[in-house]
Amino acid sequence: MSQLLVVGTVATDDIETPYGKESNVLGGSATYFAAGASYFTPVRIVGVVGEDFQIERLAFLKRRGVDLAGIEVIPGGKTFHWSGRYHHDLNHRDTLSTDLNVLETFQPDLPAEWRDTPYLFLGNIDPVLQRQVLEQMKRPKLVAADTMNFWISSVRAELAKTLARVDALIVNDEEARQLAGTPNLVKAAHAIRAMGPKTVVIKKGEHGALLFHEDKVFFAPAYPLEDVRDPTGAGDTFAGGFYGYIARAGRTDGATLRNAVLYGSALASFCVEAFGPAALETLTMKQVELRVEAFRDLTRVEELR
Ligand code: AMP
Repeated sequence: MSQLLVVGTVATDDIETPYGKESNVLGGSATYFAAGASYFTPVRIVGVVGEDFQIERLAFLKRRGVDLAGIEVIPGGKTFHWSGRYHHDLNHRDTLSTDLNVLETFQPDLPAEWRDTPYLFLGNIDPVLQRQVLEQMKRPKLVAADTMNFWISSVRAELAKTLARVDALIVNDEEARQLAGTPNLVKAAHAIRAMGPKTVVIKKGEHGALLFHEDKVFFAPAYPLEDVRDPTGAGDTFAGGFYGYIARAGRTDGATLRNAVLYGSALASFCVEAFGPAALETLTMKQVELRVEAFRDLTRVEELR
């Protein structure tokens, strides 16, 4: 089994959706990513929290085989905090605040025995930190990354340097448009590929995900759900499922990537059913497999004779 290392945020979030409001919810890009990837392969998290963070909140990840040894706890420090409000259609959200806190002075230092991990995921975090982690790794087999509007607008030049060294980028539609400077997603994907990543996945929230790989485009819908409560973390959970599947397969051919999109979409569809990562805490692989089957059925069209 191929090990996977993720660097990203471990956070507490305040979230408001049309279905409720909750504060101090467990969050962070690395948290959701690790949850998604843990269904396929052993995961190692690199990140930072403050002394205010209750590390036992990550116990569900540990139970799923996630190694938390790379999470640094800063004495007296405050954990990264994000607060957001979703619009009525849930596909749009406003960030109300981003408090970097311990992230501002974080200097990732990878355990020596983690440096030859074959699959590296540079989760949504400061692109300078993404690169610091990349530089400590010994020739990873594959490097994938995610980013967010916050970093695209504040440190674009640093992000460009990171992207130049990335094999696959997974972003949402708004971020793809912002990064490429064009409203058309096909053109945006081509522009992003010219920046470095040869494989690009564009997530479109409840409208599914597009995969651009070699000269092919693949599309998977999002699963139509009646009960969506909180989309926070769906993108990271998708990325975790997608990349975890690839790490387990050990291949990046077209068929593997298409199946990876389905597994990522299935995992994300569970994430949105409850606030924070709550739905992922009890989710079984059997449930994931059933939803992947439901996904395959969703767009299967028999030809009439
Ligand atoms: P997603 O909904 O998949 O985009 O991920 C939401 C998670 O990303 C939340 O749990 C936040 O804590 C985390 N987050 C929000 N803003 C940032 C940021 N600028 N950098 C890293 N992580 C962030």
